[in-house]
Amino acid sequence: MAWYSETTTAKKKSKKDLWVKCKKCHSHIYKSEWEENLNVCPNCNYHGSITSYERINLLFDKNTFEELFNNISPIDSLKFNDLKGSYKDKYEATIKKTGISEAVVTGRGKINGIPAIVAVMDFRFLGGSLGSGTGEKILQAANYAYDNNLPYIVFSASGGARMQEGILSLMQMAKTCAGVARLNKKNIPYISVLINPTTGGVSASYAMVGDLNISEPGALIAFAGRRVIEQTIGEKLPDDFQTSEYLREHGFIDSIVNRKDMKDYLSNVLSFYNR
Ligand SMILES: [Zn+2]
Repeated sequence: MAWYSETTTAKKKSKKDLWVKCKKCHSHIYKSEWEENLNVCPNCNYHGSITSYERINLLFDKNTFEELFNNISPIDSLKFNDLKGSYKDKYEATIKKTGISEAVVTGRGKINGIPAIVAVMDFRFLGGSLGSGTGEKILQAANYAYDNNLPYIVFSASGGARMQEGILSLMQMAKTCAGVARLNKKNIPYISVLINPTTGGVSASYAMVGDLNISEPGALIAFAGRRVIEQTIGEKLPDDFQTSEYLREHGFIDSIVNRKDMKDYLSNVLSFYNR
């Protein structure tokens, strides 16, 4: 029996290791093909998730990225506990698992030779929630961009405010917006890239106030969930409601850019500012 179980487990494991099932068209794609295509489905162009470091590798010229403010991590000011345990235990385990100190990675580097500051959110870190540390990193990176006259790009991927930090989390919405608004004084460009999903407090703050707001195809971008809105207004919403395509059609998003084109698109935009 032991032999049988072992073989079955091995089979299951190897199948999972070989294939990826697309969340949109449900087709099975070779994992190597999926990864080669930057975690994008070759059949339906569904953009799967990637980690912040994977995105940084795609964006910056080789060996130009320098991480900044990675000494900032979450603070458990409220000593928050829920039925599953303490917030502190949860974020400490997440830091260990993901290898990042907060739900955003910040740093500087060169995009096709153009220097820029970025903040790249990572949904693996407590659902990309906006905690005090997340807000502080986004603000510090904005201040760094301001002091060094460098363009600032923020990639958002978030479930919204970090519930475990209560009002301190909500405060980050105003703090980050103030940080990016200050860049206007020096005419420093602020580009917001909304990644699947960008929701709640993040969609209602710094993610929507870019000089340019762009997105990847098919991203969920929303403040409240579809069900909540439908129940409130008593109407059925269109199928593509809260997607990047719908928001572009209605003027909230300026452009939708495929992942493989993002680097060239951004360097092209930045080259206009550099003239
Ligand atoms: Zn697909």
